[in-house]
Amino acid sequence: MPTSAPFRVAVIGGGPAGLMAAEVLAGAGVQVDLYDAMASVGRKFLLAGKGGMNITHAEPMADFVQRYGQRSAQVQPWLDAFDPVALRAWIHGLGVDTFVGTSGRVFPADMKAAPLLRAWLTRLRGAGVRFHMRHRWTGWTGRESATLGFATPDGDVDVAADAVILALGGASWARLGSDGAWVPLLAGRGVTVAPLLPSNCGFDTGWSAHFSSRFAGAPLTTVAITWHDAQGVLVKRQGQCIVTQTGIEGSLIYALSGPVRDQIAAHGSATVWLDLLPDFDAARIEAELMRGRGSRSMAGHLQSRLGIKGVKAGLLRECLGAAAYADPAQLAVAIKRMPVHLKRTRPIDEAISSAGGVRFDAMEGSMLSALPGTFACGEMVDWEAPTGGYLLTACFASGRAAGLQALAWLQAR
Ligand SMILES: Cc1cc2nc3c(=O)[nH]c(=O)nc-3n(C[C@H](O)[C@H](O)[C@H](O)COP(=O)(O)OP(=O)(O)OC[C@H]3O[C@@H](n4cnc5c(N)ncnc54)[C@H](O)[C@@H]3O)c2cc1C
Repeated sequence: MPTSAPFRVAVIGGGPAGLMAAEVLAGAGVQVDLYDAMASVGRKFLLAGKGGMNITHAEPMADFVQRYGQRSAQVQPWLDAFDPVALRAWIHGLGVDTFVGTSGRVFPADMKAAPLLRAWLTRLRGAGVRFHMRHRWTGWTGRESATLGFATPDGDVDVAADAVILALGGASWARLGSDGAWVPLLAGRGVTVAPLLPSNCGFDTGWSAHFSSRFAGAPLTTVAITWHDAQGVLVKRQGQCIVTQTGIEGSLIYALSGPVRDQIAAHGSATVWLDLLPDFDAARIEAELMRGRGSRSMAGHLQSRLGIKGVKAGLLRECLGAAAYADPAQLAVAIKRMPVHLKRTRPIDEAISSAGGVRFDAMEGSMLSALPGTFACGEMVDWEAPTGGYLLTACFASGRAAGLQALAWLQAR
C-alpha cells in the first residue's frame, strides 16, 4: 500500500508495539522517526527473552482470543488481522525459526530475543526508520497534537509530525523504560485512562518470620489452586508457584492475578485454596493419615505415608496452627483444600505486565478520539492477558493495527 505523499510519522516507544507500527509505516514509504527515552530500544523485550522467550501460543484461535478475558472482543480485530500463525511467519521472515513446546507455547528456536531484535532493527534501518534514543517524550509543546516535546541529553527538542504513534508500554520494570509517566500527559488532553495496575504479579500473604526464613524461594511443585471468581464460580488450575519472603508468585498464581487483584480491591483480601496433592483423592489421603503413626512425629508421618515434606509440610504447619496440624482428619482436609489468604499484590514495578491504560472507549480503532492523528498501541492500552505469549502477540498485533490505521488516516486527508 504505497503512499503518494511524503508523510512523516513520529513513533514514541521502541518496544515490540512501536517497532511493529514503525515497520508497517516505513514499508508503505512513510518517513518514520522513532523516539525512545532509553539508550536502546526493546529492553523489556530482551528481558522477556532471558527466561526463554514465549512469543505466542499454538492453541486454537477461539481459545486464544478468550485469554484476553473481558477485552476479548476489543483485541479480536487486532488478532484477526495478525494472528499467531502470521506472527510466526513474520518471525521466520527475520531468519529466526520457532518451535511449539509441549504446552502449546511457541518459542524462537534458541529461546532468545536478542537475535530476533537484531535482525529486526537491521531491517527497520534498511527501510529508512530513523532512531532517536535518549529522547524522553514530555508532552505537547503547542496546541497542535502533533507538536511533540522531548527532553534529550542536549536539551529540549520540539518535533512536528503528520501523525503520532504512542507505544509507551505499561508501568512495570520502570528501569527498562516503561514507567507510566505518560498517564497524566494523556489525561490532561482528555484521554480516559484506566489506572495502571499490576498484572501477572505475585501476592503478599504475611507469612510468619519463621516460615519465610526457612522456605522463601522454595518451589511448590505440582499443586492446584482453587478459588471462587467474581461470579462465585469455582475455578481450579494446576501448576507451579514459588514461596517468597512475603507471599507467593509464579505462573500458577500469575494466571489468576487479574481477578484476584480485583477481588482484593473490592473486599480487602482474597482467599485461594491450595491442593498440595492434586493427584491423590481425599479418601486416600485420609486413609493414609489415619494409619497408626506410632512414635513418629506428624512431619515424619506425612513424609512416609504421603511424601509430603519440606515446603509443603511447612505450609501445613504455618496455615493450620498446632492443634489442627496434630489432627489427621483436619490435616487430610487441609492437604486438599488449604486456605491461603492473599492480602495485597506485589508492587506494579515487579509485575510481568500492567493492566489498565488507554480505555477502548477513548479510541476509534487505535486512534485517540480526543487527539485525531494520534494512535496508541501495545501494553499502554487497557487490556491484560496471562503469560503464555499472549502479551507479546497482542503488542505486535496492536502495533500493526495502529500503523495501518495511521497510514489510512494520512492517505484520507
Ligand atoms: C520479566 C518479564 C518477562 C516477560 N516475558 C514475556 C514472555 O515470555 N512472553 C510475553 O508475551 N510477554 C512477556 N513479557 C511482557 C512483554 O515484554 C511486554 O508486554 C511487552 O514488552 C510490551 O510491549 P510494548 O511495546 O507495549 O511496551 P514496552 O516493551 O514496555 O516498550 C515501551 C517503550 O516505550 C519507551 N517509553 C516509555 N515512556 C517513554 C517516554 N515518555 N518517552 C520516550 N519513550 C518512552 C520505553 O523506554 C520502552 O522502550 C515479559 C515481561 C517481563 C517484565
